[in-house]
Amino acid sequence: MATTRFKALEEVFNRKSIEVKFPSNKISDYYGENVFDSEKMRQYISAEAYKSVMTAIEKGNRIDRKIADQVASGMKEWAISKSATHYTHWFHPLTGGTAEKHDAFLEIDKNGKPFETFRGELLAQQEPDASSFPHGGLRNTFEARGYTAWDPSSPAFVLGNTLCIPTIFISYTGETLDYKAPLLKSLNALDKAAVDVCRYFDKNVNKVVANLGAEQEYFLVDSALYHARPDLALTQRTLMGHASAKDQQLEDHYFSSIPERVLSYMKDFEIEAHKLGIPVKTRHNEVAPNQFECAPVFEEANLANDHNLLIMEIMRKVAHKHNFEVLFHEKPFAGINGSGKHNNWSLSTDTGVNLLKPGKTPKKNTQFLIFLVSAMKAVYTHGDLLRASIFSAGNQHRLGANEAPPSIMSVFLGTQLNKMLDDLEKRIPNTKMTPDEKTALKLDIGKIPEILLDNTDRNRTSPFAFTGNRFEFRAVGSAENSGAPLIALNTAVADQLIKFKKETDALIESGVKKDEAILQIIRKYISESKPVRFEGNGYGDKWLKEAKKRGLSNISDALEVYKAYLQKDVVKLFEDNNVLSKVELESRYEIRIEQYTKKIQIESRVLADLAMNHIIPTAVKYQNLLIESVKGLKDIFGDSEYEKISEGRITFIKKISEHITSINKKTNEMVEARKKANKLKKCSERTKEYFDNVQPYLESIRYHIDKLELIVDDEMWPLPKYRELLFSR
Ligand code: ADP
Ligand code: MG
Repeated sequence: MATTRFKALEEVFNRKSIEVKFPSNKISDYYGENVFDSEKMRQYISAEAYKSVMTAIEKGNRIDRKIADQVASGMKEWAISKSATHYTHWFHPLTGGTAEKHDAFLEIDKNGKPFETFRGELLAQQEPDASSFPHGGLRNTFEARGYTAWDPSSPAFVLGNTLCIPTIFISYTGETLDYKAPLLKSLNALDKAAVDVCRYFDKNVNKVVANLGAEQEYFLVDSALYHARPDLALTQRTLMGHASAKDQQLEDHYFSSIPERVLSYMKDFEIEAHKLGIPVKTRHNEVAPNQFECAPVFEEANLANDHNLLIMEIMRKVAHKHNFEVLFHEKPFAGINGSGKHNNWSLSTDTGVNLLKPGKTPKKNTQFLIFLVSAMKAVYTHGDLLRASIFSAGNQHRLGANEAPPSIMSVFLGTQLNKMLDDLEKRIPNTKMTPDEKTALKLDIGKIPEILLDNTDRNRTSPFAFTGNRFEFRAVGSAENSGAPLIALNTAVADQLIKFKKETDALIESGVKKDEAILQIIRKYISESKPVRFEGNGYGDKWLKEAKKRGLSNISDALEVYKAYLQKDVVKLFEDNNVLSKVELESRYEIRIEQYTKKIQIESRVLADLAMNHIIPTAVKYQNLLIESVKGLKDIFGDSEYEKISEGRITFIKKISEHITSINKKTNEMVEARKKANKLKKCSERTKEYFDNVQPYLESIRYHIDKLELIVDDEMWPLPKYRELLFSR
C-alpha cells in the first residue's frame, strides 16, 4: 500500500481554511507601517539629513558620513519601535533569490553593559563573507570578498524582527555581483537618453523613470502532497505524472471563484505585503487548475523589483502557515499551462507624462511614436540578449522546449497600430514634405489615441506585446529575478534612444527642420524593425517558417542562448552605456550556464532515484500479483482454458516488463552520460553535454513511468497523481 500518498491525501481531506483577520477595515490604515519611508524618515531624522537623503535619491549623489550616522540612528530608533533586534543588508546575488546576514544592534561598553547601536558606516557598507555566492570566476582571480552598499532609493523595512536595508553587492575590485547594481546603472542610462529625446518637445523634463508592474503567476500545492513528491520538493517541478483526465480543457478555472483555503492564504500574504508598502492589487485564478496570479500597482522599476522579490519571499513563508507550498517554477506540470512573470514596462517623466501613451496633440503623439519605435527596434536589434536574459532551466519549458512556444523574440502591436505604422512608413517622404503632406500626416498621427481606444485585441502568444500604454514582456519566467530582463531591456532602449537623437540631430544639422527630421527617423526605424512585428499566433508552426524567412533567430539550445552575453554587439552595448563591463558579462555568462547545468543535474539525479527506488519496485510488486493470479487461473482451469481467460493479465505482465526494462536501461545510460559530462573541465562543455545528452533522458524515462502509472493498481502507486496535486485544496 502506498501509505505516504494516502496519508497525505487524508491530511488534505481534513484541512480547514485558516481564518484571517484584517488589521483594520481600511488597507490605508496599515499600508506601509513596516517601511522606513520618507514620512518616517522626516519624523526620525533632522530636516538637514532628510534633505540630503532625498537629494541623493533624486540625483544619485553620495551621502556623507555624518548624515549617514543620523539616518542610521533614526532608522534604528524606528526599527526598535517595531520590535526589531537585528539588522541586515538585503541583496540580490546572482542565484536569483535574495540574501541576508543578520547582526544584532547589540554592543557592549567598557563596563560590560549592553546597549543598542547602529552607525552610518554599518548602514552604508557591509562585508558579507560572500565567497559562496556565485561570482563566475570574478572573485577567484581577485579578492575573495565582496561588499554590500546601501541603496537609499529603496526604503528599508522591518521583516519579522529584522531591519532590512536594500543594498547592492560588489566585489572588492568594483565588479558587480548582483542584479541591483547594473539595474540601477541601466535605469540611469535610460533616464539620460530619454530626457534628451523628451527635450525636443518639452524643455522642462528633467527625469525619466522606467516603471514595472510584475504580474506574478504561481501554483499552490498542499504541503502534505508536496512532501510526498520528492521531485517537487527537490526540483519544484514534477518529473513524472500522467495527465489528469480533466485538467484545463474546460477552461473553468480562469477567473472563477477562488477556493476558500486559497483565498484565506491570499488575504494573509497581502496583509503582510501591504504592511511592507507593496501595492498588491489584483488576485485571480489562472488558466491551469491550482494556478493563481497576484499583481501589484506598477512602481518605479528598481523599487518594483525589490517588491517583487520581497513578495515572493513572503508568499513562500505565509504559505507554510496555510499548509501550502507555493511553486514559482515556470512549468511544474507537463501538459498544462506554465507560469510567467509578465513585466509591464513603461517610461514616465517628472512632468507626469507616460511616454508610451499617446496624448491629445500630434506633438505628444510624435513623442509617443519615438518611444514606441525605439523600443521595437531595441527588441529587434537585441532579441538574442533579451532571450538570454530570461532563459533558464525552468523557463525553457515555456520557450522552445517541447510543447513550448518557439523561442523567437517578436513584438505585438495590435492590428490597428500595426496598420498605422505601415501607413506612416508609406506616407512620410524621404525628402522635404509639402504643406499638404504635413497636414495629412498630422491628422494621421492625431488619430492614434482613438485607434488605441478601440484596439482591444490581446495576443496572449506574443513574448513582447504593446498593451495600450505600456509594453508587456511576457516571456519572463515566474521564478526569476526580473533584474536580468530589465537590465537588458533598459539598456537596449537607452542605446536606441541615443542613436535616435544622434541621427535626428545629424539631419537637423544638415538643414532639415526638426519636425521633419524626427518623422524621417521614425520612418526609418519603422521600416528597419519591421521583421520583429508579428500579429499572428506565436505558438503556430507557420510562425517558425515565417520568422526564419524574416531572419529572426530562434534558439532553444541552452549554451547557444547564453552565448548572447558574449556577443560583440552585446558587450559594446553594455560598455557604451556603462552598465556592465566585458568581464562582468563573462562572469554572468559563466554563472548562468553553471546554474543551468546544475539544475539539470539535480533533476536527473532525482529522476534516477525515483525511477529505481519508487517506480520499478512498485511495478514489480504489481507484476508479481498478476503473475500469481495467472498461476492461480492455471491451477483452476488447466492449460487448455487458462490462457484465454488470463489474456489481458498476460499482456499487462509483458507491458510492465517492457517498461521496466526501458526505465532500467535508460536510467543507466543517463547516469553514464552524467558521469561523462561531469568529467569535462570547462563549464560550457558540461552545459552542452547536459543539454544534448542528459536532458533528453528526462523525457524518455518519464514516458515509460507515466505509462506504468496507467497500468499499476492505484492503491499501490507511491506518488500523488496529477489529479490529486492539481485539484486538492
Ligand atoms: P492583465 O492580466 O490583464 O494584463 P493585470 O491587471 O493583471 O492585467 O496587470 C497589469 C499590470 O500592469 C499591473 O501590475 C499594472 O499596475 C501594470 N500597469 C498598468 N499600467 C502600467 C504602466 N503604464 N506601466 C507599467 N505597468 C503598468
Ligand atoms: Mg493579469
